[in-house]
Amino acid sequence: MVNKVKSKGKYDIIVAGGGVAGCAAAVEAARAGKRVVLFEKTVQLGGLATIGLINLFVPMCNGRGVQIIKGMAEEFLRLSIKYGFDTIPSDWKDGEPGLYNTNQRYVTRYSAPIFSLALTELLTELNVDIKFDTVITGADAENGHINGITVYTKSGFEYYEADIIIDASGDADVLHFAGVPTVTGGNYHTYIAFYTNLKECAAALESNDISKLVSQRAGGGANLYGKGHPEGMKLWDGTNSDDINEYLKTNQLELLESIKGEDRTQRDITLLPIMPQFRTTRHIDGDYTMTVEDAYKHFEDSVGAICDFDRKDFLFEISYRTMVKTGFDNIIAAGRVTSGKDYAWDILRVIPPAIITGQAAGAAAALAIDIQKPVYDIDIPALQKKLEDENVIIHFDDSLIPTDITQEEFSDIGHI
Ligand SMILES: Cc1cc2nc3c(=O)[nH]c(=O)nc-3n(C[C@H](O)[C@H](O)[C@H](O)COP(=O)(O)OP(=O)(O)OC[C@H]3O[C@@H](n4cnc5c(N)ncnc54)[C@H](O)[C@@H]3O)c2cc1C
Repeated sequence: MVNKVKSKGKYDIIVAGGGVAGCAAAVEAARAGKRVVLFEKTVQLGGLATIGLINLFVPMCNGRGVQIIKGMAEEFLRLSIKYGFDTIPSDWKDGEPGLYNTNQRYVTRYSAPIFSLALTELLTELNVDIKFDTVITGADAENGHINGITVYTKSGFEYYEADIIIDASGDADVLHFAGVPTVTGGNYHTYIAFYTNLKECAAALESNDISKLVSQRAGGGANLYGKGHPEGMKLWDGTNSDDINEYLKTNQLELLESIKGEDRTQRDITLLPIMPQFRTTRHIDGDYTMTVEDAYKHFEDSVGAICDFDRKDFLFEISYRTMVKTGFDNIIAAGRVTSGKDYAWDILRVIPPAIITGQAAGAAAALAIDIQKPVYDIDIPALQKKLEDENVIIHFDDSLIPTDITQEEFSDIGHI
């Protein structure tokens, strides 16, 4: 439902959510010369990758020395460590080692708060109108077109208009409000805080390495495959307020319980997650849904090649159709709300691919405005050319496909 309030203004592009995908979309659109407003319900940028305390860029390479994910994912990785620590493996310190020159993967940890501040600096320099502490509450949509959105701020309800909306809310809130078909997921029992104790402080001092100062302490400690999920416990639904509250209270009490036995003068919890650490809440039911069977397939409408974070050699291309729904002319999905099934959703939603779809969404939105076309009917070669010019690898190189592993063997990986 949309509250009828006077419009606060018209922008070219509204970005819903200030996670890495939303930030990438806003940066891309602003660089294309568009007027961009970004709404973020918390008070910091970065989403799960900062306030969610998920401070690890998963591998952006094929596991054999070749970088697969570049473009703005590379730019944001470098930004995440520009003012703070990194943990880039030695073989990648001086750039790409090259095929078969290493088995180390290209990953890094970073300071979550410092990355968040660096994102604020970048978006501010690009004149993105950041609206913190602003919750999107509704979409004013008719006949597949969104006229504007309603937000709630300290000043009350406000209404904003734009030509294109990019939903990077992580929960597909705007897509849902606008009546775009969506798919919901379930979430394991995971709640990770930042923790330190004097022993870790001493180790950091001894090694002269601040990255060793803080480690993680779990309430619920389930991993993405469900290992550690308490037997008999339901999956949490991140789109249901009662569920979210039960998840938070249960996990916070578990976390507190886990430290009670320790000497309170020797340890501290340094940061609690500021948003629920749900991996898969809701995504667009896009014109195409990526599956694990898409490994090694080329897509004519690819907006970027990506790799699997857990398995070497496992390569994909993201079809632009995972981000749009025909019939809805001015909304694009970015980040973890793009259309993937089962494990393919996991591959698509992690930080580097989320940035790639954010970048693609920003470029697609700018293009749709320029050529006055629905977002599902834009000039794909023009979009790809723009992304390629920005160092995105659109199609992976076939020479990187391993010859000793069959498609069938890989297809089973999705059913973990
Ligand atoms: C437990 C866990 C472990 C993970 N581990 C890793 C890892 O090691 N490495 C990795 O690369 N990835 C990991 N991921 C995945 C990764 O963190 C996320 O998928 C990625 O950061 C998603 O980015 P996003 O921008 O799409 O969404 P989000 O980070 O969810 O950002 C969405 C933003 O939108 C805002 N928002 C939501 N609703 C509204 C609204 N109605 N109005 C205004 N603002 C709104 C939110 O506050 C948030 O800032 C993990 C995820 C989880 C949960």
